[in-house]
Amino acid sequence: MTGPDGRQAAYRERARALFPGGVNSPVRAFRSVGREPLILASGAGAWVTDVDGRRYLDVIGGWGPAILGHAHPAVVGAIREAANAGFALGATGPLEVELGERLKARLPSMQRLRFTSSGTEAVMSAIRVARAATERELVVKFAGGYHGHSDGMLAEAGSGVATLGIPGSAGVTAAAAAATIVLPYNDRSALTYAFAQHAGRIAAVIVEPVAANVGVIPPEPGFLEDIRALTRHDGSLLILDEVITGFRLGPGGAQARYGIQPDLTTLGKIIGGGMPIGAYGGRADVMGLVAPDGPVYQAGTLSGHALSMAAGIATLDALDDESYLALESAGEALEEGLEVAALEAGRTIAIGRVGSLLTVYFRDGRPHDAAEALDADRATYARFFGAMLDAGILLPPSPFEAWFLSLAHGRSEIAAIVAAARTAFRA
Ligand code: PMP
Repeated sequence: MTGPDGRQAAYRERARALFPGGVNSPVRAFRSVGREPLILASGAGAWVTDVDGRRYLDVIGGWGPAILGHAHPAVVGAIREAANAGFALGATGPLEVELGERLKARLPSMQRLRFTSSGTEAVMSAIRVARAATERELVVKFAGGYHGHSDGMLAEAGSGVATLGIPGSAGVTAAAAAATIVLPYNDRSALTYAFAQHAGRIAAVIVEPVAANVGVIPPEPGFLEDIRALTRHDGSLLILDEVITGFRLGPGGAQARYGIQPDLTTLGKIIGGGMPIGAYGGRADVMGLVAPDGPVYQAGTLSGHALSMAAGIATLDALDDESYLALESAGEALEEGLEVAALEAGRTIAIGRVGSLLTVYFRDGRPHDAAEALDADRATYARFFGAMLDAGILLPPSPFEAWFLSLAHGRSEIAAIVAAARTAFRA
């Protein structure tokens, strides 16, 4: 328990005795990069500090919510104020209305919406509503797409499922798996074929408008448009899963960026400013099916929690057009810097990037789908991750998770990441 790693080692041991893998979410175990889990004590701006006092420049960004940086004063102040006022009062509060109106104003396709406590619940509920609205059962998702851990959504999922290299999950019923059709991302002909084969039986297509759970893969021109056209023609619903992209890729989410009008949208992460949250919503007629207005049951003891609402409002209010320009240029500068550093080191990489979401693939050429992404060199990523960590840069502990930049990642932070990468690519 002494030495530079003393407190971390002790906490890791205690955590291992409590939690599977010593963690409360699998990717935090750092297994795919061959390291021990970090025990982080605090975060401020672009930096996090472990329990032994070691600081890291962070690009995990809380897996997406920390778009303003960690412990942003406006967010902390809003949470403190909401906490002092009392929370979880078990009735509707003004902050729910405030945040709900902000979401609707920014994403006009969300005519009506519901708050949940996680992205998983938002997706699970959106799918239930879509099945009720269409009176159909099948749901199309794309390989490598991660939509939370509800049973039907774990088939060929991204994120931790891809990181662990498992095809799905034990404990999922055959019926749940059979109701999910998995297609390759960006494959327009597979999509057309699926709609021909299952005409009139598909309740919904759910898609990450930018795939961000097998690294970052942008949609090819026509892909999202085809999904929209085919779902509309077949009478099935389009669910855009904007849990990551919502308020990260622009004030109107990916749906504004790519000009796609979904029937339903799922949100999470940024809209809660780092507090637990999810939301789903869309067409008023479809959302009218949700209880108590309609027959689709969905509820939550802590839904619309005042601390989450307060943090979300403060976060959205701090984001303006200039913020998105800054995030875009931070992403651009990092991409360029990493490309030059890799070139100088004679290292073959491909960078997938949209705005402030970015992934370094150790492969030749940008992947277009999950199969290509998963074929990137994991062992090299693990070595790169380790070298970066030792240099004080905390990357996602998986080759298939996006790097999330924040407004706290200024020029000097980007330069520090690139400088460390220059050495790490050589190692
Ligand atoms: N959808 C997407 C696109 C996600 O990236 C995630 C989580 N990373 C989820 C849904 C699930 O959200 P949560 O972890 O809050 O349940």
